[in-house]
Amino acid sequence: MYRGERAAGGSKGEVGSVDRKRINEALDKQLERSSPSTSRAINGKDKSSQSLQMGKHPPDHYRDSCSASLPKPNASGDESETDSEESDVSGSDGDDTSWISWFCNLRGNEFFCEVDDDYIQDDFNLCGLSSQVPYYDYALDLILDVESSHGDMFTEEQNELVESAAEMLYGLIHSRYILTGKGIAAMLDKYKNYDFGRCPRVYCCGQPCLPVGQSDIPRSSTVKIYCPRCEDIFYPRSKYQGNTDGAYFGTTFPNLFLMTYQHLKPQKASQSYVPRVFGFKIHKP
Ligand SMILES: [Zn+2]
Repeated sequence: MYRGERAAGGSKGEVGSVDRKRINEALDKQLERSSPSTSRAINGKDKSSQSLQMGKHPPDHYRDSCSASLPKPNASGDESETDSEESDVSGSDGDDTSWISWFCNLRGNEFFCEVDDDYIQDDFNLCGLSSQVPYYDYALDLILDVESSHGDMFTEEQNELVESAAEMLYGLIHSRYILTGKGIAAMLDKYKNYDFGRCPRVYCCGQPCLPVGQSDIPRSSTVKIYCPRCEDIFYPRSKYQGNTDGAYFGTTFPNLFLMTYQHLKPQKASQSYVPRVFGFKIHKP
């Protein structure tokens, strides 16, 4: 996992025995309270196999009802469930793929945009995160593909914990990044590509949605999608996406997005469904 091809800094060339003891203590503590959300096993070997599975989530099946206004998202949407070895077209060798683009291409991570290296390298942007994320320095090195010597020193289990920490750190950076000019523009591209799915309400006519968190505190709730037309939130269609932490997108994003791109705010649905029995409106008792 700790690939050295982009040895940018190597700030931690060697970890002394004192540090190592500290790490082990921290890791042990983490093991005791490790939660299911961080247990996605990703190590060097799994990486290549997971990157084979990065098909897009299933295409929308309700397109027919409102098809006039809906261009086809893209051709690759149809090859979704057949995540076999055949779909290893994009960089499955993994050697020249950065951690960030590898991570964003994992199944279930389709909502994430790729955060600029420059943004992550600016300490100001990461203010306060070191106290929230365990093994912060190692996680950060991993995200930035900085070569670390501890990759050989850590056990597989410890590497997985660092991986989980990197996932969390990336998510928290991501939630800040998508509120910046560059980040919000990156999310606009994804929105235009229907990457966040569509509103399930019939009278919203397949309105593209935006990701939203119900809390900015990690591990409070999973990510939801927000429909700008009916202004309601829904569970994402894919269970893979549904496992993502909502704090990695935050409570502010969709609202700031629609303030930034006001022309994208749709008109409210003019129709609403009226329940009928044999054609007669049901009288309220
Ligand atoms: Zn809606």
